[in-house]
Amino acid sequence: MNHLRVSGLRKRYGEQEVVAGIDLELRPGECFGLLGPNGAGKTTTLRLCLGLIDPDGGEIEVLGLPVPARAREARRRTGVVPQADNLDPDFTVEENLLVYGRYFGLRQAEARARIPALLEFAGLSARAASRIQTLSGGMKRRLTLARALINDPDLIFLDEPTTGLDPQARHLIWERLRQLLNQGKTVFLTTHFMDEAERLAHRLAIMDRGRIIAHGAPRELIAKHIEPQVVEVYGDGAGRWAREFGQAHSERCEQTGETIFCYTHDADSLVHHLDQRSGLRYLHRPANLEDVFLKLTGRELRD
Ligand code: ADP
Repeated sequence: MNHLRVSGLRKRYGEQEVVAGIDLELRPGECFGLLGPNGAGKTTTLRLCLGLIDPDGGEIEVLGLPVPARAREARRRTGVVPQADNLDPDFTVEENLLVYGRYFGLRQAEARARIPALLEFAGLSARAASRIQTLSGGMKRRLTLARALINDPDLIFLDEPTTGLDPQARHLIWERLRQLLNQGKTVFLTTHFMDEAERLAHRLAIMDRGRIIAHGAPRELIAKHIEPQVVEVYGDGAGRWAREFGQAHSERCEQTGETIFCYTHDADSLVHHLDQRSGLRYLHRPANLEDVFLKLTGRELRD
């Protein structure tokens, strides 16, 4: 049985179809990434899956339970890490876990028994009695993650779990998510960080304007949509270099500001030319998920 099954899902706000008929499937034990630019409809999809808002069409099944009809039961077996930390500032670290346990109908003793392991998981054993305001952003995120585990869920939803964190804190969260995957949990992650999706997700879907425009394993998507090598060329003369040489010696060149991105199966002639000639700075690298994302969703800014 899939841990999440979504078919033909639709949600409209006013004139705008925010989720425009999407299908998703999450297999037990996998990390699935839902990727998309701001406003793509990721958070709305997640809220629909949790039964927090009602769909205008389509079907949702969470852990075999139809949502929204049996959303309450489904939520008891899922964990949620929302985008904004909503820890209770009036309580300590430990009290936050206790209060949350109560929402799930855990008896005080039962919740208390689970707390040491959760604090340890979050790296917060020494901070059990600390007030929320005294925690760093990374600590709050880890506590929110630990809190989402109080009911020992099979499926965990995370909405942009590392937005706003510094690199150290992000790595720590990724490490914890890997630990959960090793324990056999299923993880549904929304993110706009390509590196996060590439690192964690077994499979992912790219969403744009309410639709899924591509899906597959990260490597499959890269192989399918993008030439394997990229040469980024920087600076004043980059545009002219692209017109005079780059375009003719690569499959595709794109420009963002003063940077040229040349996509190619064989970068030798580009690199050779740049080394010999130019004075231009460049970076030669393998194609990544961000290249796929930008190709499919475009380079213009989204608010
Ligand atoms: P994402 O998480 O991908 O950034 P969202 O699902 O938050 O996207 O939002 C998708 C679109 O739906 C946005 O244009 C947003 O403004 C709109 N939207 C989301 N929630 C509401 C709401 N409650 N009322 C009206 N519009 C909404």
